[in-house]
Amino acid sequence: MILQNLVKAIREQNWFAVGLELIIVVLGVVMGFQVTAWNSEREDRVTEGHIIARLHDEIMGLEDNRWDWAAERASTRENLLSASQKLFAESVENLTPPECTALAMSHIFNAPSLALPVIAELESTGDLDLIVNGDVRTAITVNLQADTWAREMDTALNHEILNLPPDHPQLFHFAAPATGDNWNPVFDGSVRCNTDAMRENRAFLNALADNISKGNFYMTVMVNVADSFTALHAAVDLELGLTHSVSTD
Ligand SMILES: [Zn+2]
Repeated sequence: MILQNLVKAIREQNWFAVGLELIIVVLGVVMGFQVTAWNSEREDRVTEGHIIARLHDEIMGLEDNRWDWAAERASTRENLLSASQKLFAESVENLTPPECTALAMSHIFNAPSLALPVIAELESTGDLDLIVNGDVRTAITVNLQADTWAREMDTALNHEILNLPPDHPQLFHFAAPATGDNWNPVFDGSVRCNTDAMRENRAFLNALADNISKGNFYMTVMVNVADSFTALHAAVDLELGLTHSVSTD
């Protein structure tokens, strides 16, 4: 209809009508683009809402399922340090069973994963831009950086494992229980330590010192990941208007 009017106006050399029709055409195109942009923006905000809701679901799922690794690691570290005081210092005290167990597992650095699948998807598809909430987006970025750093450190720390019992068989032995159905020798207190021989073995003490430092560093790295996870949860809660207790592990 507009095109017919435009052709008719040109034939009649009615330049005022030609100009008017052209203005109507241009305005129509501009409004069409604007409506498309509005619709796209509205769809993006709906998608953002779905992503943040899913993010919260995954955060809650991880918090419900992970064990209290920080407390467990702190307990092992405490026993490792008290054992070290007896072994490195001028002491005649024997190691306690928990201290001996801590030595047997001093090479184990691990923590439950705090990786969130929805963030991995956003990163791989490049859809991180859909999150326009500044606090949530910043918290996601910080969490991603902390998680990446932790993975790199996990690989580096486990590149050379100093597993003390097999490396120093003369210093450890394992006492099997009468019924060994669920025997878990490294962790369940079955290990026995030759404290006097440990004090005299420089290779063993140096390896132990290495494991203590690695464990301390890994703990720092993982606390950083846990802090970024907690901060992300808080930002998501704020966006969703949720208030409930948040784990600080
Ligand atoms: Zn929450």
